[in-house]
Amino acid sequence: MGDDDGSLRYMVRGYSRDLPIRRPTSPILDEDQVSDSLRNVPFLVSEIPEKGMGLVAARLIATGAPFFTERPLFTQPSACTNSTILGELALHTRDEQREFFSLSNKYKSGRKVLPGLGIFRTNAVPCPIMKANCAEERLGLFFAAARLNHSCTPNVSRVWDSEEQVLKFYALRHIGPGEELCISYLDVLETRDERRAELWSHFGFECACSVCTLQGTALEESDYRRAAIRRLYNEMCTCTNEPEIGIQKASGWLNSVVELPEYSMIIRFNWPCSS
Ligand SMILES: [Zn+2]
Repeated sequence: MGDDDGSLRYMVRGYSRDLPIRRPTSPILDEDQVSDSLRNVPFLVSEIPEKGMGLVAARLIATGAPFFTERPLFTQPSACTNSTILGELALHTRDEQREFFSLSNKYKSGRKVLPGLGIFRTNAVPCPIMKANCAEERLGLFFAAARLNHSCTPNVSRVWDSEEQVLKFYALRHIGPGEELCISYLDVLETRDERRAELWSHFGFECACSVCTLQGTALEESDYRRAAIRRLYNEMCTCTNEPEIGIQKASGWLNSVVELPEYSMIIRFNWPCSS
């Protein structure tokens, strides 16, 4: 079904609900092409045990090019209010409003933040707009991105492309059909206790991913490796004027990423020394 702006809106069928997603770049398609497009949707919305809703790979998702791009349902300045959120939602369909209010709200128990603003703050993604070498700070609401749960060994990275004005999803490793798609909500190089404290404080849940549930020596080794990776990574970033030393540090760092091979991909997309 084509929208007025020429984008395609369609439903991704999940195990228990439908998620309306605004497909960003496609022209208006005829019925046959819509069917093809639905067959190519790379994930489903699904109930995840102990987590609520999440995204699950519908087919093999390989590393490399973005496997999905998403345009924001709407954006707001960082100083947005509950009124501006509700005003924006009034411009959208009933289905989209219903989907918005079904998203998680980490401010729900405090009652100090009204629901619309609480949901937006919980799920919004920074999506700055570049204007004459100056970034205008904006926050965007993306239905698919909002369903990505957290893991301390994430398999997905999402990156805002300010030129194309879309959020691009990358696989950090090959993801098999049925596997949950997860990003990291925080710095994965912190220790397990630091990560758990931060996740509890900011998002109100205790992470039970495969790394956080390690015990004894295995957990100690995981924390040690992550600390070593962080130290080498920080040292590497101070070597921009000493490339030979930087290469030595990079070599040490690469030997350290035993546990986090996907972390090299995270750094590729968030490289602080390249700007
Ligand atoms: Zn974890």
